[in-house]
Amino acid sequence: MNKQAEKKKKTALVCGAGGFIGGHLVKRLKKEKYWIRGVDLKRSEFSKSEADEFIIGDLRNLSVCKKVLDKEFDEVYQLAADMGGAGYIFTGEMDADIMNNSATINLNMLNLGRKIGFKKIFYPSSACIYPAYNQEDPNNPKCSEDSAYPAAPDSEYGWEKLFSERLYLAYHRNYGFDVKIARFHNIFGPEGTWRGGKEKSPAAICRKVAEAKDGGEIEMWGDGKQTRSFLFIDECLDGVRRLMNTPNFTGPVNIGSEEMVTINQLAKMVMKIAKKNLKIKHIKGPLGVRGRNSDNTLIRQKINWEPTLELKNGLEKTYLWIEKQVLKTKSSR
Ligand code: NAD
Repeated sequence: MNKQAEKKKKTALVCGAGGFIGGHLVKRLKKEKYWIRGVDLKRSEFSKSEADEFIIGDLRNLSVCKKVLDKEFDEVYQLAADMGGAGYIFTGEMDADIMNNSATINLNMLNLGRKIGFKKIFYPSSACIYPAYNQEDPNNPKCSEDSAYPAAPDSEYGWEKLFSERLYLAYHRNYGFDVKIARFHNIFGPEGTWRGGKEKSPAAICRKVAEAKDGGEIEMWGDGKQTRSFLFIDECLDGVRRLMNTPNFTGPVNIGSEEMVTINQLAKMVMKIAKKNLKIKHIKGPLGVRGRNSDNTLIRQKINWEPTLELKNGLEKTYLWIEKQVLKTKSSR
């Protein structure tokens, strides 16, 4: 490519590029011919980043943020956060770190952005911001965007996300940044954390099923009757890219699936994919709200899009990937 064509390329900064969604986002932007700078505490453990530049650094540190923001980008995606599944965010043991680490990253980035100017910045909030009192009935949870207040998230992770949403909105109002905010609902897929304590339920269930012998059993936290919806990574990125290209709309908007299932049903689906018949042993463990589902009314209205992939199709791809990791780990022992 000649220098002029190179110059015309759109540029993106992806913070959290070594993580699950960030890694996939880099691949997507690369396909769209962006020039990309990635930044993270670490590289992805599963595949080589396709970013043109990758900076290893801690975004809680202002000097790292300065280095990362030494030029203007067409688009910034601030995905870096201290996050994990129920075993990480609901035990209470990590609360102070979760709040401090993620809020510091967001404050640093916006403070510097105010000085250098952001053309467009994306922030991923979470379904965890929705009030616990609207999610007590597993068959009828309420997660429309306008139901966020009066606020009562069920975790400090959710409170930090809500604070940071407001922070991005305030910078949008006061400093004119073009801000886009999505509330992700349980994103899953290959190359997501699948063990170690930060994994989320689809990955944990896939791992347990892959490790179990046919006719055996898997453990599950709680009675499995709580409901959730899960969105496959490719569709999450479809939503993010469309949101980024929708003028005059900031959000927050849900990016999630409306296909709600119980965790027991989720486990049965995985067993069917694995062709294994397993018992579920319900044990005590950290749990979130009783019911949660995306409400896609606003995203349909505002960006004329919603996900369509059936859960079982995304699960199939994820299970096959996790099964491979389990086999690799076994054979390296
Ligand atoms: P992830 O943990 O795989 O990715 C986050 C990345 O941020 C990690 O690679 C981590 O190393 C990096 N990071 C953390 N602290 C950092 C620091 N101080 N400096 C530099 N990098 C740092 O998580 P993910 O699932 O890819 O999530 C990406 C974003 O989407 C997060 O903001 C998360 O809160 C949000 N989100 C995800 C989901 C989901 O279901 N995966 C749901 C709601 C919101």
